Amino acid sequence: MLEKQELLYEGKAKKLYGTSDPNVLWVEYKDSATALNGQKKAIISGKGELNNAISALIFRFLTQEGLENHFIEQLSSTEHLVQRVQIIPLEVVVRNIAAGSLCKRLGVPEGEKLKRPLLEFYLKSDELGDPLINEDHIAVLDLATSTALQEIRATALKVNKLLTELFLSCNLLLVDFKLEFGMRNNELLLADEISPDTCRLWDGDTQRKLDKDVFRQDLGDLTEGYREVLKRLGGIVHV
Ligand code: ADP
Ligand code: MG
Repeated sequence: MLEKQELLYEGKAKKLYGTSDPNVLWVEYKDSATALNGQKKAIISGKGELNNAISALIFRFLTQEGLENHFIEQLSSTEHLVQRVQIIPLEVVVRNIAAGSLCKRLGVPEGEKLKRPLLEFYLKSDELGDPLINEDHIAVLDLATSTALQEIRATALKVNKLLTELFLSCNLLLVDFKLEFGMRNNELLLADEISPDTCRLWDGDTQRKLDKDVFRQDLGDLTEGYREVLKRLGGIVHV
């Protein structure tokens, strides 16, 4: 039986613990919410449980679809086990519909459907405010090899295809999402979380926001949207 060991890292949304297996980490989802580069903070009771459940369900779905990822198994309502990776300090964003910083930066109206999925890279750095970077920055700063970067691109687009279809089948629009990847034994592996904290999800009929923008923009009860996402996915994905 695997044992939970020392706290290795506490992030904004999760705590990572070591285990008796050096290749396995114990992840605990927290109830804290942050936005606008940490300027806005709150404790939202129930968010950790919802994100743990949704993320586990999505990772299991991706595994079933043949897309390898770090998820091993769910342990409790707020905890799951993952394969330990060396995280690549990139936030890999895929956008299908304009929202958030794309609208602010480039003046594209929110809700405009993009003519093809748009891939963006941000440097994962709280101190620098996660700046947008391009593939040249990634190469020059040695953030990932060109082979790893090509694989990241292909995998991110594949995840987009699979999740767009999954969410569409429960009448949710996958507006955009963020992925993190890591290296394990020289192999690239999809890691971190996939939840309404890291995806923009809109109701297919009303375009109502069911993701962290509810918190960012003070639109009401955050967990209500997350519960709706879990309910809809639970009715579709039986894993
Ligand atoms: P952050 O505040 O950086 O967003 P989170 O609280 O979301 O942090 O998550 C904690 C940390 O766990 C993040 O730095 C993330 O990159 C890292 N992480 C996620 N999955 C893995 C993994 N499989 N192995 C190692 N680190 C991971
Ligand atoms: Mg995070």
